[in-house]
Amino acid sequence: MTKFATESAVTPELLAKYEPVIGLEVHAQLLTRTKIFCGCSTRFGDPPNSNVCPVCLGLPGTLPVLNKRAVEMGIRAALALNCTVRERSRFARKNYFYPDLPKGYQISQYELPLATGGWLEIEYGGETKRIGITRLHLEEDAGKSLHDGFPHSNEKTYVDFNRCGTPLAEIVSEPDMRSPDEAYAYLTNLRQILLYTGVSDCNMEEGSLRCDANVSVRLRGASEFGAKVEVKNLNSFRYLAKALQFEIERHIGILESGGHLTQETRLWNQPAGRTESMRSKERAHDYRYFPEPDLLPVHVNSAWREGVHASLPELPGAKRARFVSAFGITPYDADVLTDTQALASYFESVVKAGAPGKAAANWMQTELLRRLNDSGKEIGASPVSPEALAAMIALVESGKITATVGKKVFATMFETGRSAAEIVAAEGLGASVSDDAIEQAAREVIAKNPDNVAKFKAGNEGVFKFFVGQVMKATRGQANPHAVNEIVRRLLS
Ligand SMILES: [Zn+2]
Repeated sequence: MTKFATESAVTPELLAKYEPVIGLEVHAQLLTRTKIFCGCSTRFGDPPNSNVCPVCLGLPGTLPVLNKRAVEMGIRAALALNCTVRERSRFARKNYFYPDLPKGYQISQYELPLATGGWLEIEYGGETKRIGITRLHLEEDAGKSLHDGFPHSNEKTYVDFNRCGTPLAEIVSEPDMRSPDEAYAYLTNLRQILLYTGVSDCNMEEGSLRCDANVSVRLRGASEFGAKVEVKNLNSFRYLAKALQFEIERHIGILESGGHLTQETRLWNQPAGRTESMRSKERAHDYRYFPEPDLLPVHVNSAWREGVHASLPELPGAKRARFVSAFGITPYDADVLTDTQALASYFESVVKAGAPGKAAANWMQTELLRRLNDSGKEIGASPVSPEALAAMIALVESGKITATVGKKVFATMFETGRSAAEIVAAEGLGASVSDDAIEQAAREVIAKNPDNVAKFKAGNEGVFKFFVGQVMKATRGQANPHAVNEIVRRLLS
């Protein structure tokens, strides 16, 4: 897990005196083709105001019609997050004035949200912690104000209504996180679950995943919460962690100098590296919520809910646990290999094609992921198929080639797409050192290291590896490691 360095006037002693309390509100754009209350496309990047109609422009006399698919996506996310999906929920109008909101209100859910009372697990510092999820509700997105890139941008603000009415799920956590690192882990796991379930593409650059944080501090051991500040505009994982760290230290600084904190909303200013006050509690919005009269309550019966539940894929946490128990890999390996569904299924295919779990995990993490990363390729575009990798691993495992040669062969496979057997045959890379040559090298190594021979004879099995390593080195990595093992053991005993 990432650790974030702090450059702060607050000493570690002061930091330790206080406990941060953090909750996150995440907006995820749901992956529907059309908007939540009309048939307009949700496609990103189209020319401004090309995906609009009287409904999403809020023209008088129009009526919203709820997109069933958006509700289904909401149910999917809610169930994956262990929430209770309410049989009956209701939309409400959230009233406020803003240029990107043509209706003058946003249709959201308020006192009757779609789902409540869930949780997700984070792993942090070797421990598993459950973070509560208060609620998940559906709402429509607003449009977008465009401040530059147009002929009169220096004197005017332009508005693009394409995003108006795009379906969102707002996921509100309990204030259960106690450090920026935990908040980072929560957002990482939440994003992974939304991706696995296909509910959102979670593309932060395109605004498909947005995050606001509630943060306060209290003296360690205190049971009451301190004054809470909402920080908005945390549109990357790094901003989130940096903004939280800044805000925690700001709170401690104020409290330590005898000041008091006020409840307010602040904005993260990334270039300046600080949060700035946006509005205080006194000026907070009164949204005058009331039930949306143009929409019926949402009814989710058990058949619908169960149908969605049955269609959920294996979730990241369950997959990690299964990889550890079924394939004998470490939790760390499992964590890396379940990062995406595509990576996890590649790994399973390598094992299915005959490679031992641990070897498959090692080769993927060292050689494959590094080369994919260097060449900017996704796992789906890997020039080496899972079966081809398994065949290469089989050559190494059987001692037909050494691990060192295996790495060279893999590099060629990655570049050319040829099979391991083909490359080994064409380039004469098979383990080619005769047993006699191995034995001669082994005798020399043993003669040169009487101290280690004594240690081995005294029962120190650990030095055996030393001898094997030295013989491999003497044969320039070309010897069959199984033969080396056998010969060294015979000569030593
Ligand atoms: Zn529309």
